Amino acid sequence: MVVGVLVSRELKMIALDRIDRLMDFAKRHAVERPEIARKAILLAMRIAQKARVRIPKKYKRMFCRKCGTSFWTPNSFTIRVRDRRSTHIVIKCMRCGYIKRIPVNKT
Ligand SMILES: [Zn+2]
Repeated sequence: MVVGVLVSRELKMIALDRIDRLMDFAKRHAVERPEIARKAILLAMRIAQKARVRIPKKYKRMFCRKCGTSFWTPNSFTIRVRDRRSTHIVIKCMRCGYIKRIPVNKT
């Protein structure tokens, strides 16, 4: 087996393609089969880790980083806006309680 820059780049492309498909799958099943969507997301996270690629930005906020719960699923998270010190959005996963904070830049 040849291991080189080209090969690993190709592997990353394959990994990203699989992540894309899994996220699309999760999105389509999030409402009716949330557990299947969660498993697809967990798998996508594992692939990203193994291939050392980042989950594309468009998906990053769509699931819980801790348990993989899809935020496309209704009632899977709560969202709040906090205005102490700096404005930020607080997203809480309803499955595991993981809290994600996203800063909001005032313009
Ligand atoms: Zn969670």
